[in-house]
Amino acid sequence: MTNTNKNPSFSHNNWLFEAIDDDSVNIEEFLNGENDLFHEDHRKFELPNVIGILPIRNAVSYPGTVAPLAIGRKASKALLANIKPNKSIIGLVTQRNSETEAPNFKDIYSIGTAASVLKIIKMPQGSIHVIVHSLARFKIIKPVAKKPYLKAKVQLLKEKVRMTKKLQALIVNVRQAANRVITLSPSVPEEASFLLENIEDPSSLADFLAANLSLPIAEKQKLLEELDATKRLEKISLALANQLEVLELSHKIQGRVRDSVDKSQREYFLQEQLKAIQSELGKGDLQTEELKQIHKNIKKAKMPKKVEAEALRELDRLSKIPSVSPEYSVIRTYLDWVCELPWAVQTKEQLDIIKAERILNHDHYNLKKVKKRILEFLAVRKLNPTGKSPILCFIGPPGVGKTSLGKSIARAMGRKFIRISLGGIRDEADIRGHRRTYIGALPGRILQELRKCGSKNPVFMLDELDKIGADFRGDPASALLEVLDPEQNFSFTDHYLDQPFNLSSVMFIGTANYTEPIPPALHDRMEIIELPGYTENEKLNIAKKYLVPRQLDEHGLTKNKLTIKDSALLAIIQSYTREAGVRNLERNIAAICRAVATDIAKAKKRRATIDKKDLAKILGPAQFESELALRTGIPGVATALAYTPVGGELLFIESASMPGKGQLQLTGQIGDVMKESAQAAFSVVKSNAKKLNIDDDKFKNLDYHIHVPAGAIPKDGPSAGIAMFTSIVSLLLNKPIRPDVAMTGEITLRGLVLPIGGLKEKILAAKQAGIKTVILPDRNKKDIPEIPAEAKKGMKFKFVKNTTQALKIVLNTD
Ligand code: ADP
Repeated sequence: MTNTNKNPSFSHNNWLFEAIDDDSVNIEEFLNGENDLFHEDHRKFELPNVIGILPIRNAVSYPGTVAPLAIGRKASKALLANIKPNKSIIGLVTQRNSETEAPNFKDIYSIGTAASVLKIIKMPQGSIHVIVHSLARFKIIKPVAKKPYLKAKVQLLKEKVRMTKKLQALIVNVRQAANRVITLSPSVPEEASFLLENIEDPSSLADFLAANLSLPIAEKQKLLEELDATKRLEKISLALANQLEVLELSHKIQGRVRDSVDKSQREYFLQEQLKAIQSELGKGDLQTEELKQIHKNIKKAKMPKKVEAEALRELDRLSKIPSVSPEYSVIRTYLDWVCELPWAVQTKEQLDIIKAERILNHDHYNLKKVKKRILEFLAVRKLNPTGKSPILCFIGPPGVGKTSLGKSIARAMGRKFIRISLGGIRDEADIRGHRRTYIGALPGRILQELRKCGSKNPVFMLDELDKIGADFRGDPASALLEVLDPEQNFSFTDHYLDQPFNLSSVMFIGTANYTEPIPPALHDRMEIIELPGYTENEKLNIAKKYLVPRQLDEHGLTKNKLTIKDSALLAIIQSYTREAGVRNLERNIAAICRAVATDIAKAKKRRATIDKKDLAKILGPAQFESELALRTGIPGVATALAYTPVGGELLFIESASMPGKGQLQLTGQIGDVMKESAQAAFSVVKSNAKKLNIDDDKFKNLDYHIHVPAGAIPKDGPSAGIAMFTSIVSLLLNKPIRPDVAMTGEITLRGLVLPIGGLKEKILAAKQAGIKTVILPDRNKKDIPEIPAEAKKGMKFKFVKNTTQALKIVLNTD
């Protein structure tokens, strides 16, 4: 015999009246208690001494339950052959092992339920179904027969029910728990709880629940064997609690799943509604119009196939997003960027060297050497256009024409001109952009400028290469390397664009004030062209030929309306500006033009001629005066020549002594190299004290202080060494240094004078300040021919090999 249900137990979702599928058993009658068989008095019946035993598997039958059983085994069929429905009693006993096909007494438990057979249904395929009503527990006393079916002598078991407070509490508790289980189990009909309420007898209640609990068969059998109703209910209460916990948990999980499904459905629904609203308002059409336009733009941009495919993919994504969504505008902006880059747009290359020379000469005064180098560079490019030409880098102080040379090159080649300043850039993203995942991300400066200029082959000037920094946000120099390297820049990848862009037809030019701070890797890739500062005469010529005409033009004036005399220009150069280039000169000329233009506009004047004496009225008092006479002429002050980013400068080195122990103090914003050179100078003086006629006591009883004024400007470099030496000696000997002498040169501890750089700027600065004699290191003699004759006019150069020679000159003991 087998249970019809595949589930090995009567699970809670197998409530008994579901299991009965036969209209001869009226469920309504059962529920209303009209059927005798379902009466709580079911235990009151006559149990024969000997009964036939029907072994059942995977189930335990409890008194009070009605269940259908499918009969298949031979022995079971033999038992049923002698049975009369509603009259005969059989014993239902569970098998210990459900696999045993022909169980003997040892294979079944010894306690079972006596049951009345309600109905036998013969199925068409030959199988038999019986409906049994279990009535009471019995115990097998003795086996009587094994064949043709098991027969045994049996005895009814008496259940123990003592109505205690505990039992009452248990009943309430179990009922509540069972009701909760029913509510949480969707497959259990609500009527079950009604049924539950109607069972009053604790033992019946326990059996009813035991029959419907999902438990292992051995556990179920134990419940059957427990005769004490209180104990049985206790166990049931525990099992119910377990089951409840599992159910509640699964209910929670289901709830959560349902919530999330509901949410996504809701979103989908709302989006569909939005689309509908948009199309009602005509905006949906607008969106499709917009998408069509972007599609056209993508095709028009003639980007490489791979990039185009990616752009089209993004467009496809865009078409699926409502236009109000923030993601829409992110993708839209990206696509705009991609479409507007000059993938295929370029200006026609024209490399006419004669024309280039004409343009360079037209735009710039003098600069012969520089122009020659540029023309050579262009000629090589013309002969070998695909060759990897080096990148030009102009080095020089501000205002010497680096940018304007770049512009002229662009003009000569028929290319567009772009310029970005790298000063202070510390973040790699400035060059290469931010990834699109950042809010407000944009491409880096390189692509931004290329988009603005709209051509893929401009002249691209990278200003202030010496001022790039590096910090935790990455090293912009390494990104620049990729930009400048012809081996890599054909596939420059910007983080934002995330697609390679070919930079190989861009012509890069770098500029810097100094060579040293340029990162070495960048320096290596460039051809350095130096542009030193201009002489007074050069400045005057630039002003007359270029700056004045340009400013007149910009201010709507003509030569007839305004004349600036040479004397005025020279006065501006000498007293209103102190620079290597011509930037401030141009600014002052512009100021004059403005003042005159105002007068003419007010009809005060019709034309003006500006002379030196008019300058004070327009530009204010002169800003630079010779400090020489003020500073020098007293012991301890020497004039050094320095090279700064703005050109040559005069530095006054002041030494002083005070009572102390021979210590040396240094001030005046001086860098490490200059500090060391001051200490070296001091040591040279100390070690040559005897030779110099200096009393040894002066180092024991006095402290020394070297100060380099000129306010807060940082100064560095070794070239003031010789001036520091002479300044200390002059102090110690109490002899003033010749005020018309300036000097420059590094010194060694043994008193040798070493060569220095920036000669032209230094000589120009000395001349401008009215210095007549310049002491220079002997080894700089070879550079003198490079200095323009005009700068050398009226100047005396004294070349020295050591400190003794220098001292003789400055102290006039020569
Ligand atoms: P930089 O880039 O070196 O700082 P700019 O190129 O901006 O300097 O030059 C400043 C101004 O000086 C520009 O108007 C430029 O035309 C002018 N200038 C500089 N050098 C010359 C020159 N040799 N001939 C004519 N104009 C010059």
